[in-house]
Amino acid sequence: MSEIIRLEKVEKYYLAQKRGLIDTVIKVPKIFVKALDGVSISITKGSVVAVVGESGSGKTTLGKIITTLERPTKGEVFFEDIKVEKKNYFEIRKKLDMVFQNPGTSLNPKMKVKDIVSEPLGHFDEKRVSDVISEVGLSYNEVKNKQPREMSGGQVQRVAIAKSLMKQPELLILDEPTSALDESIQAQVLNLLVDIQEKFKLTYIFITHNILVAKYISDLITVLYAGKIFEYGRTEEVLSKPLHPYTQLLLSSVPTTDTKEVKPPVGDVPSLINLPSGCSFHPRCPFVMEVCKTKEPPLRNYGNNQVACWLYE
Ligand code: SF4
Repeated sequence: MSEIIRLEKVEKYYLAQKRGLIDTVIKVPKIFVKALDGVSISITKGSVVAVVGESGSGKTTLGKIITTLERPTKGEVFFEDIKVEKKNYFEIRKKLDMVFQNPGTSLNPKMKVKDIVSEPLGHFDEKRVSDVISEVGLSYNEVKNKQPREMSGGQVQRVAIAKSLMKQPELLILDEPTSALDESIQAQVLNLLVDIQEKFKLTYIFITHNILVAKYISDLITVLYAGKIFEYGRTEEVLSKPLHPYTQLLLSSVPTTDTKEVKPPVGDVPSLINLPSGCSFHPRCPFVMEVCKTKEPPLRNYGNNQVACWLYE
């Protein structure tokens, strides 16, 4: 399978504070948030890659950089081996799309469904709109004249997916597409996404904080922490034999037959303004060693997977 997207040492920094004239005059130093810090990944066509991590891990920033909604501060992105640059954003955006967690905010609440779905086309083609709406399990005649505010969360998310499909994309970035939905609806939307991926042979980058959702939907998994990849490999393998202590921690929060509740992982995500030295996970790590406090572990191949941890040196 050929590669669809490749990130090379991508970094993304945001200015942490609003700066006024006075800050510039008295030379208050700029403070940056490191949302992504040297992420490299190559994704092949037709694969489903889950990106998991807690909030603040950089998942959404990664999605926005791939969709060209954000530009990397450093590093490069290649789409089908072509370097992504401002001059080719338009062409690249035709081949990919992003589905957001809350379609209520990403779709115009005052537009009719038929107009929302036909928007990427630039003109109204009833046959195509009707086909794509059926594809996401909605009845065209029932929903065509409705506005998102008249529909349930699950229906609105289906409309958002239909709008993305209208572009006939090769790559879909799905940012927590089921997190805002009721549990019973989540499974339906997930199953729909699985069917669509198989039918249209799409590539998915599926952003989620829910490791069970990642397990269900993905072939490959990337575990992000404080803007860095900590572990990467085949989902089945990573989740059955997690190498990185952070992946192990995420898995320990998954409900079992004894503990039906999802427990939040122990400890707090560090501040992205002032990351711990060495391995940024060291204050939470039960296996921390002296080296972890001062030296950052690189992401290395280990067996079939990649892991960034001094335990595997
Ligand atoms: Fe834990 Fe050290 Fe591995 Fe970081 S490098 S995860 S602190 S053992």
